Amino acid sequence: MCGIVGYRGHNDAIKKTINCLEKLEYRGYDSAGIAYISLNDIIIKKEKGRIKNLKDNLNFDEQSNIAIAHTRWATHGESNQINAHPHNVGHITLVHNGIIENYLELKEELIVNGYDFVSETDTEVACAYIDYLYSKNNNKIEVINSISKYFKGSYALGILFDDELDSIYATRLDSPLIVGIKDDEYFIASDVPAILEYTDKYILIDNKEVVHINDSCTIYNNLNVVNKEINTFEFNIENNGKGNYEHYMLKEINEQPNIIYYLLNKYINNLEELPDLSKYNRIDIIGCGSAYHTGLIGKSLFEGYANTEVNCYVASEYRYQTNFYTDNTLIIFISQSGETADTLACLRKVKEKNIDTLAIVNAVGSSIAREADNVIYIEAGPEIAVATTKAYTAQITILALLAIKKSNTNIDTLITDINNIKDTISSLINDIDYVSIAEEIYKRDDIFFIGRLIDYAIALEGSLKLKEISYINSSTYPAGELKHGTISLIDEGTPVISIITDENIKDKTVSNVKEVKARGAISILVTNLDGMDDIIDNIIKVPKVNKFLQPIITIIPLQLLSYFVARKRGCDIDKPRNLAKSVTVE
Ligand code: GLU
Repeated sequence: MCGIVGYRGHNDAIKKTINCLEKLEYRGYDSAGIAYISLNDIIIKKEKGRIKNLKDNLNFDEQSNIAIAHTRWATHGESNQINAHPHNVGHITLVHNGIIENYLELKEELIVNGYDFVSETDTEVACAYIDYLYSKNNNKIEVINSISKYFKGSYALGILFDDELDSIYATRLDSPLIVGIKDDEYFIASDVPAILEYTDKYILIDNKEVVHINDSCTIYNNLNVVNKEINTFEFNIENNGKGNYEHYMLKEINEQPNIIYYLLNKYINNLEELPDLSKYNRIDIIGCGSAYHTGLIGKSLFEGYANTEVNCYVASEYRYQTNFYTDNTLIIFISQSGETADTLACLRKVKEKNIDTLAIVNAVGSSIAREADNVIYIEAGPEIAVATTKAYTAQITILALLAIKKSNTNIDTLITDINNIKDTISSLINDIDYVSIAEEIYKRDDIFFIGRLIDYAIALEGSLKLKEISYINSSTYPAGELKHGTISLIDEGTPVISIITDENIKDKTVSNVKEVKARGAISILVTNLDGMDDIIDNIIKVPKVNKFLQPIITIIPLQLLSYFVARKRGCDIDKPRNLAKSVTVE
């Protein structure tokens, strides 16, 4: 969500910050802007829409050695040029990721003190408030250090002062921020992939730390200079962008055979490398969106085969509800970015109660990874498409491995399927005619997904994928629930996508499909079972594999079906409207 970058070096600040900003495009945004120093002046340029609109108004030959830039995902005020960042008030120019929750209160105080506002944003208020504090204390580090006393909410800020044009300042509270280092050139960014074209060396900035970059980079924690560890980004990032694929989403779908095989192979004979969950008789899993859906798969696996009660919660609800813990409760937090604000807030709440926590995260060194007691990285590599695919299946793979370990399953029963899994997934990707099924449904306004238990969890994710990228309204129901009300919405030609992979409960779901077919629905069946010809208008056959592995592969056709439906509808598949990749606001 939103991206902040900054550069302080020798030259080409405009080009370098915009390059970095483009690497954060995947996070989702609706306007973009830059402030750079040119001929002892701060120049601000910003535009609604894509970074391309901003680039069209920039002169990349203009020399500058300092710039800050931003992609905005509007929270306060519509997406337009005035609300876009950077904002400037008095001596301060800044870019902001996050939300200043008490901005109205601060705004009133500022208005009384003579400040005017041109935008609707909380960010302009933050900018003015820093100027206000600076008017009372000209020690910049002290001013920036003090803002956590006044601002409620979350922020990562890149700040320029007009009386110190050779410096960038930065700070954060609950929004991500890193500093990139390449010899005597420095970057700030919301995320490491932003800077990888220039350097793989980075420092993680902690909450409330203040960064001052001029000829060197100094970091203050509570006004004291701190020596921070310089990390090296270790993923073997493929720098070929989309490669031969039309979209990142398709590329990432195609990366799944290798990632899933890698994880299964890494751990299956080394289960001792995974945390020992044997003492926990209750597990809560917290996540948002697809990460919540992976939790539901985990629930089915742990409850079905490891005799362990699991409850899954949407993070934004869990934080405010009454939570019940036993002495042997483990809370698992799932987040691709490791910065999901709702999930992070729950982690902090749980930690206050001294409950054991485990994070399942993709982004190394992210806040959730650092703050949980234990972390398992899903090692999926950077995921650029907003709609998750490879991170989702990698999260399920880790949950499946944890359930295998906790259930003491004989791993010999899994080895053949694991050895074949690359081919199994590749054939699911390549050998099914998704395009013709997409042709049949892409014009529909309403689509239904149904399934029971683990198949319901898979259906939820299939439906979410379709909504995210094709903007078709789709609803998901436990198969037996449809007849309790929603079946009234089924009429001639309504597509109903049913997932049936569990032999034991197949018959009841078959009856439910018959019920909708009797009311005119087109039935699309995703199954690993045979028979059922009488309920099928279209079938997507998935191979039958071990029960722990089945959900990992069953989702893949639904990812591809969504992809081809969205493509047919001409949607912006990698950057769907209104969505952000890493949701760093609550
Ligand atoms: N709350 C700020 C705004 O609406 C920043 C949003 C963001 O993180 O992009 O401008």
